[in-house]
Amino acid sequence: MIKKIFKKIFLIDLIKGLLVTLKYFFLGKITVQYPEQKLKLQPRFRGLLRLYKDEEGNDLCIACGQCIRACPDSLISIYSERGPDKKLRPITWTFNLSRCMFCGLCVEACPTNAIRFSHEYELAVYDRKKLYIHKKNMYLDENTKKYFEEN
Ligand code: SF4
Ligand code: SF4
Repeated sequence: MIKKIFKKIFLIDLIKGLLVTLKYFFLGKITVQYPEQKLKLQPRFRGLLRLYKDEEGNDLCIACGQCIRACPDSLISIYSERGPDKKLRPITWTFNLSRCMFCGLCVEACPTNAIRFSHEYELAVYDRKKLYIHKKNMYLDENTKKYFEEN
């Protein structure tokens, strides 16, 4: 009780707040002149989802459908067929970026690490149809890097 009264009389909380403001007044400017300047992204940054292949160039995706079931917005659809080895392989793999909230549930659910977040975040397009990304544009290579640049 006495402590509370003391704090009120001597405006301790107000002084504490002003000291924080004062500290930031003397620190350097932190505004970044985007897009000329860009911030360094953290390793776990969640950018555009990408599909990955193994070292031999085969899909890591085994068309198990775990990502489809995990996605709360049903944004992933896959059509699969069995190959000569009787294993399921995705023939089509479509992702609707327009409603993705980057929650990561699909990434966590994937048993083969086939789907992962990239560091791509400049994802604006003029045509909404481009936000339905098909399998050939889901892999990270020189052509797909340009996908969001060519509007
Ligand atoms: S990150 Fe979340 S919302 Fe986006 S596709 Fe994956 S599960 Fe769905
Ligand atoms: S969870 Fe992974 S392996 Fe299974 S369908 Fe999705 S991307 Fe493919």
